[in-house]
Amino acid sequence: MARGGTIVTIDGPAGTGKSTVAREVARRLGFAFLDTGAMYRAVGLAALRREVDLDDVKDLEFAAKHARVEFDWETDPPGVLLNGEPVGHLLRGGDATRAASYVATVPAVRERLVEQQRQIGETFAGAGLVTEGRDQGSVVFPQAAVKVFLFATEDERLRRRVAQLRSRGEVVDEQAVREDMLDRDKRDAGRDVAPLVAADDALQLDSTGLAEDEVVNRIVDEVASCTSAST
Ligand code: C5P
Repeated sequence: MARGGTIVTIDGPAGTGKSTVAREVARRLGFAFLDTGAMYRAVGLAALRREVDLDDVKDLEFAAKHARVEFDWETDPPGVLLNGEPVGHLLRGGDATRAASYVATVPAVRERLVEQQRQIGETFAGAGLVTEGRDQGSVVFPQAAVKVFLFATEDERLRRRVAQLRSRGEVVDEQAVREDMLDRDKRDAGRDVAPLVAADDALQLDSTGLAEDEVVNRIVDEVASCTSAST
């Protein structure tokens, strides 16, 4: 099994099963788990609370500057705090999701969150860290021991997103969810800073038609073989 000092990055678009897979990989390896999307979502929530214009970079920078995002590492998964307030339960709704992808286009916001993510990496790499997002392997942790880029077909991603929303009791308009997802994909892949791309040395994994367990096993095996090869 993997030794300490290991960072595993899992990147990819929405609806690829990234979060669930990353959390389970972390659990299986006994590593810490970092959900970087939650950080952008928390800043998005802060922007919504200030009722700023999501197209106004200066307003977004201002809102972000006054948004202190932290994790409670004592809980599993780690709780998300915005200026000391637990906000994990407020981050998955449509508004925070959309706002996250707007704040994520602002270079100053990314700089701050990337720096914070690297500090978290330094704290936890000794014990092992699985971190997931859009730029973890390509920008934040280019030295990571294992980098995974998860993808899936648009229909599969939509199916998962709809199932996820329904499981939370939400009434779902599939066409609207598809449009939201594609809109968010476009902003994530098209932004100037740290757009969604696979790192050159990432293992590209198509999760279409694979059970969550199969994806998890594949990544855990990859970590095991990379870390045993480096001993
Ligand atoms: O992964 P999740 O869906 O929670 O991410 C929410 C949004 O945060 C994404 O659509 C993306 O715009 C942004 N994000 C990012 N970089 C990351 C993680 C998330 O830009 N590392």
